[in-house]
Amino acid sequence: MNDRHPPTKETLLTTDVSVAADCIRSGGLVAFPTETVYGLGANALDSDAVARVFVAKGRPANNPLIVHVADFEGVRSLSSSVPEYAESFMEAFFPGPLTLVLPRDPKVPYGTTAGLETVAVRMPDHPMALALIQQSGVFVAAPSANRSGRPSPTAWEDVYEDLNGRIDVILKGKPTKYGLESTVVDCTGEFPMILRPGGVSLEDLLLVHSQTAYSTSAALAAKSPGTAHRHYQPNAQVILVDHSRSLNLPEDAAFIGFSGGETARLRFEAVDVADYAHHLFSFFRQCEKEGIRTIYCEKVAPFGMGRALMDRLERASS
Ligand code: AMP
Ligand code: MG
Repeated sequence: MNDRHPPTKETLLTTDVSVAADCIRSGGLVAFPTETVYGLGANALDSDAVARVFVAKGRPANNPLIVHVADFEGVRSLSSSVPEYAESFMEAFFPGPLTLVLPRDPKVPYGTTAGLETVAVRMPDHPMALALIQQSGVFVAAPSANRSGRPSPTAWEDVYEDLNGRIDVILKGKPTKYGLESTVVDCTGEFPMILRPGGVSLEDLLLVHSQTAYSTSAALAAKSPGTAHRHYQPNAQVILVDHSRSLNLPEDAAFIGFSGGETARLRFEAVDVADYAHHLFSFFRQCEKEGIRTIYCEKVAPFGMGRALMDRLERASS
């Protein structure tokens, strides 16, 4: 990672995709909406531009970036070989919240892959994101557009809060649909292996490939070293609870979950797991603004989207 200073000028806010595309093409940094969370994009094949992403976020150099493409050809161009089951996943879930880890084509710089021989690729299901990739004419490397370790941004205002003055442009869209990041699946072995649960569930993937499985923690450490860092943590203590109904919450506490926590100063009652996931990170940021010291989060059953939600809750509370 290089240690050049990020830009310190005011970040440009715009809804004009062509302005953002020009910026990416000339080596700049653009935050943009996707269906999962807001991403911080740079030309994936430009090592200098990618290095600036790490500086702007304060991201550890061993945590690789996901490269965003606008079509299937982009995936094939970035990888030296795409296994048949990965093609099946593309057919079933692209565009959408699924990232495929594939053998790297030599043109992808090690700065983007954090020194790995693999590259992570995804096609976002968002018109602004797709237009940005198409109009810039480059592949767009984009991690979540938050300062490293913080909750991911689900609205452009969250990006502004974390990165104003550190990046060139924020492409303003609506709040994101899922609110949690994509599922990351390793496609370099005989069978697909989930490295990070996300918007596409194990149950969804099993319908396409019956031998899909979660990685063991040893395999995860080898395949995805960046996942060991702290993640998703607000400036408040996060405590996970089974059932909050009988909880006596302190005065400065917040609660998010399905039921209970009535005495909390700030409270979000979700109608289902998708609604909970959709609001989690924005709730964390709202709690910060209101000076909440402790956030109680109701645990969910680890199935479907619930698995991804529990992953984020556990990391936020660790
Ligand atoms: P973020 O974009 O901030 O949500 O983080 C990207 C996620 O993708 C992290 O969990 C990375 O570890 C993972 N990732 C990106 N590239 C690779 C790769 N080549 N191999 C394994 N995991 C990857
Ligand atoms: Mg992230």
